[in-house]
Amino acid sequence: MKRPQNIAVLGATGSIGLSTLDVAARHPLRFRIFALSANERIDELAGLCQLHKPRYAVVARAAQADALRARIGEGATEILVGAPGLEQIASHPETDCVMAAIVGAAGLVPTLAAARAGKKILLANKEALVMAGPIFMEAVRANGATLLPVDSEHNAIFQCLPGSWSGDFAGNGVRRVVLTASGGPFRETSLAQLKSVSPEEACTHPNWVMGRKISVDSATMMNKALEIIEAHWLFGAAAEQIEVLIHPQSVVHSMVEYADGSVIAQLGNPDMRTPIAHALAYPERIEAGVGSLDLSRLGKLDFSEPDFERFPALRLGYRALAEGGTSPATLNAANEIAVGAFLDRRLPFPGITMVIESVMNEMPSLPSATLADVLNADAAARHCAAHHVGSMAARA
Ligand code: NAD
Ligand code: MG
Repeated sequence: MKRPQNIAVLGATGSIGLSTLDVAARHPLRFRIFALSANERIDELAGLCQLHKPRYAVVARAAQADALRARIGEGATEILVGAPGLEQIASHPETDCVMAAIVGAAGLVPTLAAARAGKKILLANKEALVMAGPIFMEAVRANGATLLPVDSEHNAIFQCLPGSWSGDFAGNGVRRVVLTASGGPFRETSLAQLKSVSPEEACTHPNWVMGRKISVDSATMMNKALEIIEAHWLFGAAAEQIEVLIHPQSVVHSMVEYADGSVIAQLGNPDMRTPIAHALAYPERIEAGVGSLDLSRLGKLDFSEPDFERFPALRLGYRALAEGGTSPATLNAANEIAVGAFLDRRLPFPGITMVIESVMNEMPSLPSATLADVLNADAAARHCAAHHVGSMAARA
């Protein structure tokens, strides 16, 4: 019998990380938790280490390594620190599969390390691909890595496209891909009301329990903007081949339309364990702990067009894709700063997209040929965004 696959979970204490561990633990003969990482929640990481007994655990700082050691003792788990630790577990010769579930730009370098080491990558960390699409896809290609989408929409599209997809829309008779979007907690909130929504309201998603950053992204619909760019790189889809459709129930996870008029959709309960299990076991199917979809109980599924006026983030996503170069990295970095400021109550909700647009207007889109180009653009955009947050706060 084959030995279990060694899984490294980057961002193990997060929403996706914990769901990954839940699915993997249902199949101990298939998967072994080889490495875990966490940024802040050391107590939770200690618990996960005791449960899964990974070979490695990665923490952000030396002091946390001491705290974790005190909790789990000298045992089966070696503790590594910081970015070098993340790169080490992502590219370790015994790692078979990397779940990229760190949130934001912090996930880029370790996920790229996994691509360069030719690993099977389960990509939840969409920001990495948004920032460095061409570099990332080339690293996957050149090193024989396998990239499997975990984002529910992209996982759905992957399931609806023909097998061995190479990005040839015309040759495969594919007309377009349709990304569904729940519309978030403010789907029906007026522009006037959006000015006073709180971080707590923004983080209460109608269908999904997620980390705070992606919850705010769902509320602004920047999440969908990032997903448009993600779909471009994953599937080779041009901007005009990517459509966004509001679907409040989050049951149709996305669709592919073919030249003959057929539309193939993937449906399921809104539970990230489904796409995680699909990617973990691909091309096989395994139990994920997700119950059957009861369409008769749901009764109906609704669809409508997105409102680009209340949700200008969508427009910014298409703009960054059209500009190319460092523009998506600029968009992403400005968003991370603006979302952080909103969560800290230093910026009103509509200020998030205003800051991003100002940063995009100021920062030129440069060619992003190397990782250094991307990281420079990221740093410059953060600086510029922080400045805009400050001047907006001063005016308020
Ligand atoms: P989360 O906030 O719940 O978890 C984030 C994880 O990343 C934690 O383990 C944290 O310790 C780690 N982390 C945060 N900052 C870090 C840093 N600077 N260095 C190293 N590690 C760091 O987030 P989440 O909801 O699990 O989302 C993770 C990723 O998956 C995001 O890119 C998100 O867009 C994507 N995603 C999430 C969902 C979902 O349902 N939660 C769905 C689709 C895609
Ligand atoms: Mg998604």
